[in-house]
Amino acid sequence: MNKQGLNLNTLGEFDLIERFFKRSTNHVYPQVLLGIGDDCALMTCNSKEQAGDLAVSTDMLIEGRHFLPGADPRSLGHKCLAVNLSDLAAMGAAPVAYTLAIAMPEVNPKWLAEFSAGLLSLADEHHCPLIGGDTTAGPLTISITIFGRVDATKSLKRSNAKLGDDIWISNTVGDARLALGSIRQEWSLNSKEIALVAPRMHTPTPRVTLGQALLGVANAAIDISDGLLGDLSHILKMSEVGAEIYIDQIPCSSTLANQSLEVKRLCSLMGGDDYELCFTAPSSHQEKIQSISKDLDLRLTKIGKIIPTPTEVSSNLITLIKEDGQIMPTELSKQYLQSFDHFKSSN
Ligand code: ADP
Ligand code: MG
Repeated sequence: MNKQGLNLNTLGEFDLIERFFKRSTNHVYPQVLLGIGDDCALMTCNSKEQAGDLAVSTDMLIEGRHFLPGADPRSLGHKCLAVNLSDLAAMGAAPVAYTLAIAMPEVNPKWLAEFSAGLLSLADEHHCPLIGGDTTAGPLTISITIFGRVDATKSLKRSNAKLGDDIWISNTVGDARLALGSIRQEWSLNSKEIALVAPRMHTPTPRVTLGQALLGVANAAIDISDGLLGDLSHILKMSEVGAEIYIDQIPCSSTLANQSLEVKRLCSLMGGDDYELCFTAPSSHQEKIQSISKDLDLRLTKIGKIIPTPTEVSSNLITLIKEDGQIMPTELSKQYLQSFDHFKSSN
């Protein structure tokens, strides 16, 4: 494509890609037959060493919509890839490669150096090479397409939750929303608290190893990008089941636990951007799940159960149960049973 508008006097598109995005080490990846530089990249997910079906996912991040203007470029590079790796994780897929389409208002070498450092170091960590992309001028927009490998028959589909399954969650949820709320001045945190929760928002950890470990153990999974209840609803709708959630068992960090009950519930039930996995599994797999938790040194907590869809049309798919075993009143729970919708204002 033509590089309209990019300031080629300082650094051309090819120099830019060469300098910031190309890695000489890509030949070490058996899945990459041809990397950056030709009309297409060539890859295989069926080499002698590695076989499986192809899992593909794309995410787009736009400045001012998905990240704040002036966001730290290194964290942004990390987060752009992390959200895509998280989608692979939620299918149980192993990373194979990714492409990067980026529009930016100007060529800023300092920004690019930081952005690519954040991006490529997470990519290296997951042995996931950048094999191509597109670069153009425009408002800062970053779109990554990621390719993964998984046995499609075993993949962790949203539509596969079964009655009686336990509902589990990795690590803790709500810190990313807690950090966002302090930036938006919805509440205030002290500097120690900010230092603890800000990384959860800016540099999330995709649960790639967990996703793969859950193959054959979990029935369905989703990564929490828009909020626990909203994302869980996707599993429930697609599996045509309901759920009960024990709200006081939802794991949250001590920083979040120290906030008011209202903030704690809002962040853990509705807060997005945590990129933890929520998955369902038969109760008979509880021990296996506990041993995965031990092996990965990652907290996995049972927070509910898959139940039949409520018979009343007006009922929510999710029933929230309080610590005392009582069902949360409908009006109060409705407030929580909303999720982030990109076409509404925001959460
Ligand atoms: P085309 O004209 O076929 O679209 P380009 O000139 O846009 O090719 O890109 C040249 C090569 O550089 C291609 O192999 C493309 O995949 C790669 N490329 C372009 N932009 C990026 C980017 N941001 N990151 C990685 N590779 C890129
Ligand atoms: Mg192009």
